Amino acid sequence: MSALLSVQDLRVRFRTMGPIKALAIGTKAPFIDAVCGVSFEIHKGETLALVGESGSGKSTIARTIIGLQRAVSGSISFDGQELTELSAAERKPYLRRMAMTFQDPIGSLSPRLTVRSLLTEPFRIHGLKDRDAGAEATRLLRMVGLPADFVGRYPHRLSGGQARRVSIARALALNPDLIIADEPTAGLDVSVQGEVLNLLTRLQDELGIAILIITHNLNVVRHITDRMAIMYLGRFIEVGSTERIFHQPRHPYTEALLAANPEPDPDAVINRIELMGDVPSLMRRPSGCEFHTRCRYAQDICSHVFPEPTASREDAHHSFKCHFPLERETPMRLEQRRLSLAGPLRK
Ligand code: SF4
Repeated sequence: MSALLSVQDLRVRFRTMGPIKALAIGTKAPFIDAVCGVSFEIHKGETLALVGESGSGKSTIARTIIGLQRAVSGSISFDGQELTELSAAERKPYLRRMAMTFQDPIGSLSPRLTVRSLLTEPFRIHGLKDRDAGAEATRLLRMVGLPADFVGRYPHRLSGGQARRVSIARALALNPDLIIADEPTAGLDVSVQGEVLNLLTRLQDELGIAILIITHNLNVVRHITDRMAIMYLGRFIEVGSTERIFHQPRHPYTEALLAANPEPDPDAVINRIELMGDVPSLMRRPSGCEFHTRCRYAQDICSHVFPEPTASREDAHHSFKCHFPLERETPMRLEQRRLSLAGPLRK
C-alpha cells in the first residue's frame, strides 16, 4: 500500500543573519540547519510520533509539510503528488486534506470569533460557500463530544480541554485524511489528557484518519502511536514501532528520554539517567555523533565518526544511529504506564 504522506531527505534551513552582516563579519554560513535529511512515511489510519526536546526540529517538519515553512531540499509527497514542485494555488487542494492543531489551543483560536465562526472558517477560507454554517458547527461539536450550545462561546470562556476539542473539531471541518497534532495534551491535567487522546483515537478509528503527533510526552506516544521517531538536533536518531522502542531502545538518548518519563506507579523502581550538559546549539554542532557531548557511553570514535543508520537484527523497521547500541531491554512497566491516563485507552 502506498503511503499517504511520504517525506524523503527533507532539509530545512533558517538564516541567522542578513547577507550584509554575514559579509561584514566574514561568515560564509549564516544559516542553521533545523532539519537534516529526515525521511518517513505515514499510511492511511496510522499514527506516527515525532519525539524530541524543544528545538529538535519536530515542529519545523510539521510546518514544512503544511506549507508554512519552505524546504531547502527533499521531497514531500501526499497521496502520490509531489508538493514541493507545486505553486501555492496548485498545492491548495492537497493542503485541504491535511489539518493541524496547534500547541496552545486557546492562543491559536482567534479571541474575537465565536466557536461557530471558528469551526466554519475553513469553509470560508476554501470558498465552500454552500455549506450551512449552523448545521456544520453543530455536527463538528457533536463529533468531539461538546454540546451544540457552545456555538456562541468565545475562546476565553473555554477550558483548556474544551479549547482542545474545538481545535480538533475545526481540524475535522474539511474531512482531512491527515491531522498533524502539535503537543495535543500540552497544558492539560492528566484526566483531560486521557479524554483528548481517547477522542483522537476514536475519531481515527471511525474516520480512518492518519495522525502525525509532535510531542515530548512519552505517555502520549506510548498510548496512541503505532510508530515513533526520536529527534536530536534536526535528525532522526532512532525510528521504529512504538512497542519495539519502548521495549528495547537502542540509542542512549532514547534510553534517557524513556527513563525521564514520569512513572505513575509510586512503587516502581525508577532508573533515572542524567543527561550531561545541555542540548548543543544548532550553530555549533558537535562533530561525529552529535550526541557524544552528553552520552554516558561515548568512546573515542564517537567524537569524530558520524554513526550511519543501522537496522535492528530483530526488526528491520527499527533503526538507530549509534556506534555502540544498547543491547538490554528496558525494565519499564508498560502495563502500569497504560494506567497513567484516565479512561480506556487504545493499546
Ligand atoms: Fe553515545 Fe557514541 Fe552512540 Fe553517540 S555513537 S550515542 S556518543 S555511544
